[in-house]
Amino acid sequence: MKIKLVQGDITKQETTAIVNAANSSLLGGGGVDGAIHRAGGPGILEACRAIRNRQGGCAVGEAVITTGGRLKARYVIHTVGPVWNHGRSHEAHKLEQCYVNSLRLAEDHQCKTIAFPNISTGIYRFPKEQAAKIAVRAVRDFKSTIIEEATFVCYDPENYALYQQELSGTP
Ligand code: ADP
Repeated sequence: MKIKLVQGDITKQETTAIVNAANSSLLGGGGVDGAIHRAGGPGILEACRAIRNRQGGCAVGEAVITTGGRLKARYVIHTVGPVWNHGRSHEAHKLEQCYVNSLRLAEDHQCKTIAFPNISTGIYRFPKEQAAKIAVRAVRDFKSTIIEEATFVCYDPENYALYQQELSGTP
């Protein structure tokens, strides 16, 4: 799997799937979640509601998949990152599971390309440097014969610099 890094807006990505940093309710929120629902239109929320009715939301570390609505991406994979609790609530493992479960779901749907935001590093306050290390390790360690390319989309320059540093290290 090739790994790419870009700075920008994930709603503009032309990958088969984009990942959303959702919350357990799946009913939308602020940050990247709000941006994805705004850009993708009401079809995404409708699909999230159907999943909620079926399984009652999404647990931390898990992921669900919906249509991409009006986005260029065919699918949105909604994963729920952990809220930072000073490392007392297995947040590192849960964040890793977000990346792994999103990649598994992308494989199940034959996605060749996928884009990730910097899950949990906004409203959920996960320390950015640690989050970048976890994200890069999880994606590098995931061996796939289906997914050809994973893109990290950093919105803020601080995350972009951290990912540049992380990705320049030996694979
Ligand atoms: P969380 O609740 O998981 O922390 P946030 O949406 O608050 O989720 O933030 C996650 C990351 O998404 C942050 O690093 C934030 O800068 C970034 N972000 C916000 N809007 C966008 C966007 N349109 N595209 C890509 N990343 C975004």
